[in-house]
Amino acid sequence: MTPLEYDRERIWHPYASLGNPPPVLHAKSASGVAIVTADGLKLVDAVSSWWCVAHGHNHPAIVEAIRRQSEKMCHVMFGGFTHDPAVELAEKLAAIAPPGLDRVFFADSGSISVEVAAKMAVQYQNALGHPERNRLLALKGGYHGDTSLAMALSDPDGMHTLFKGIMTKHFFAEKPTISTWGEWNDADAESLRRVVDEHGGEIAAIICEPVFQAANAMNFYHPEYLREMRRICDERGMLLIFDEIAAGFYRTGPLWAHSRANIVPDIMTVGKALTGGHMTLAATLASGKVADTISNGRPSAFMHGPTYMANPLACAAACASLDLFAKGDYEANAKRIESVFARRVMPLKALPNVVDVRILGAAAVVEVRRMPAQSDISRVIRHSGVWLRPFGNFIYSMPPLVADDRTIDRIGFALMNLAASPPGPPPEDGDFHE
Ligand SMILES: *Cc1c(COP(=O)(O)O)cnc(C)c1O
Repeated sequence: MTPLEYDRERIWHPYASLGNPPPVLHAKSASGVAIVTADGLKLVDAVSSWWCVAHGHNHPAIVEAIRRQSEKMCHVMFGGFTHDPAVELAEKLAAIAPPGLDRVFFADSGSISVEVAAKMAVQYQNALGHPERNRLLALKGGYHGDTSLAMALSDPDGMHTLFKGIMTKHFFAEKPTISTWGEWNDADAESLRRVVDEHGGEIAAIICEPVFQAANAMNFYHPEYLREMRRICDERGMLLIFDEIAAGFYRTGPLWAHSRANIVPDIMTVGKALTGGHMTLAATLASGKVADTISNGRPSAFMHGPTYMANPLACAAACASLDLFAKGDYEANAKRIESVFARRVMPLKALPNVVDVRILGAAAVVEVRRMPAQSDISRVIRHSGVWLRPFGNFIYSMPPLVADDRTIDRIGFALMNLAASPPGPPPEDGDFHE
């Protein structure tokens, strides 16, 4: 069997059938904005390999940091040990985090950092004598990961209905409808206030993806919504958790998407671009108030600790990634990409199959009535030399933040070809997510 044949028979891919597997390409190497396949394709990675490859693939500075760390120590348990890469990374994160969020828990993936954030909120309320506050309030249209707690906080009408039986019930407000660039209307947060009025006594924290609901709804919403959340949390003694795993690190323009609202959460999760897409690592950042309150409770220990917590190789990669963010002008890059997208992708609104085009920073979303057939998607990828991974009704690009104008132009061309392709068959059940 060739590697591709073996893969087809034995290896699951994300949200894919093993009985009737979708096509996969055989990646051999990657550098800069491109992925090279075994059959000689060189594809622009227009989705930054799920939004993490901010500086381009195999960035020499990050590769070198991993190599140097690997010569000293690849891993050591974090129970009972600390090490330079973890301390250095915690310091670097505290320096760029919103003010006050200088306590850090290192997790091995985004989903885990969300679980950790939710557990912090529950332990915090417990320490304050509110064990009944053990639910969270999240937004419809949101996505926070695939582990069971993170899944239970993601859009309740999505793929997760299948797992209802093993999921705790949390509370949901309606998906925000006023866009980031629209005019704010207080009515958008009406359902948020209603849920809090009805269930406030059971709610430990509110969690959301600030400004940009990515993996589920590709929805850019108004920062005033976040200010309303902050007001509610302050009034009702709830914590505010911002999941910046997708939107953080300049994806929507500013370093943190929530900075548009000029408020600070109590807990924040980061992941994806943290290591520039070189190693898996995420972190949960908390305020001193959260950490101290948990420490004064019983147990005083925070009850989580993954095997690969603060893996030194991943921390070294993240340190190098944060150095790159600090050295370059990534906000300007995102703005530049936004303007090329505006020129190249906004006009797709006129196509009959296109419902809406939304662009914010280095993210462009083309919402279509019907997705093209898989064979057309594959054809456009090969023909344009651009890797795209549309899902649901969304054809989108979130390119490496270092992509130059010509690369963005080329991505715009691929998005156009895909949006103009004939619509495929209606989606099958369970086809709506990555
Ligand atoms: C991707 C994502 C996660 C989950 O991260 P994993 O590393 O895939 O576990 C959580 N929250 C948001 C907003 C994400 O985009």
